[in-house]
Amino acid sequence: MKVPQEAVQACKAAQSVVLLTHVQPDGDGLGSVAALGLGLRKLGKKAWASLPELPRTLEFLGLAALKLPAAETGPFDLAISLDVPNPARLKGQSELLKASRQVLVLDHHFDSQPFGTVNWLDPQAAATGEMTDALLKALGVELDAAMATGIYTALVTDTGSFRYSNTQPGTLRLAAELLEAGVRPYEVSRELFDSANLSTLRLHGAALARIELKAEGKVGLLSLPLQVLKDCGALEEECEGLVNLARSIRGVEAAVFLREASDGSLKLSLRSKGKVDVQAVAARFGGGGHKAAAGATLKGDLNAMAETVVKALDEKLSEAGGRGPETD
Ligand code: 5GP
Ligand code: MN
Repeated sequence: MKVPQEAVQACKAAQSVVLLTHVQPDGDGLGSVAALGLGLRKLGKKAWASLPELPRTLEFLGLAALKLPAAETGPFDLAISLDVPNPARLKGQSELLKASRQVLVLDHHFDSQPFGTVNWLDPQAAATGEMTDALLKALGVELDAAMATGIYTALVTDTGSFRYSNTQPGTLRLAAELLEAGVRPYEVSRELFDSANLSTLRLHGAALARIELKAEGKVGLLSLPLQVLKDCGALEEECEGLVNLARSIRGVEAAVFLREASDGSLKLSLRSKGKVDVQAVAARFGGGGHKAAAGATLKGDLNAMAETVVKALDEKLSEAGGRGPETD
């Protein structure tokens, strides 16, 4: 992976750095923030992480030590935006961009926008964590166990535990290297997958019972009213991964997870097994992401919007021949 020299130079030249990732942050965004933040501190820089949200399952990344204090408002030499395709996905954190002399954007989304003063966009990367690792190497940082754990978490999250089509030989080579640097994969798995709250399991139960098959079984639909979340005593962050329940059914080519969010919007998650480009479908609704995993934030009635999204997917599947006989 080739790191642009301007990205390396921007990091080298900066003394004070603030790191940001997207709203509803995931293991790729926060794992990258943790690894790069710790790496920049090792180089003697003042590095902070903007952390308006920190899901409980990702607390093990050690981000608390990097948290930007409220009193620290800048100016910063450099803001580094990780795993963020456009400024709208930064929501309340945009002020930090304005408070920074330079903005470095590192992202791997299919539809990334170059909103930095320096932009490194690589849709071939399996995770932003892969790019972060390459940047740390280019900066001459030797990864310790904590940094390697951040990168490894990024890989595990965005490849679905090395199960998705973005898993390349290089991804697995990097994972092996990270283990040699001190990552304990079973500990990461325990934190990510075996530390659920009872409320999360209750939510999974309720969600499983609501899954429907549409488009002759090619689309798995899960629509979730906010009340179900409340009844289960679950937080919105506990919805992470629910879309995969609808994706896991034989014959399903695309999964739709649509839920009512507490701010009154509808949060859409789309997943594909390869036949349909869900990024293109999400884009029709003002969202984006990757070909196999995309999302959007919508307004409207839950059931009506679910039907609209299913229809859009059904059309895409027909175009892609996804509703004909399997050829592979
Ligand atoms: P998830 O379904 O896990 O929330 O997100 C899957 C992918 O879709 C991620 O790459 C994420 O960046 C993208 N995505 C999710 N929600 C939105 C959204 O509201 N707007 C845009 N542009 N992308 C989204
Ligand atoms: Mn990512």
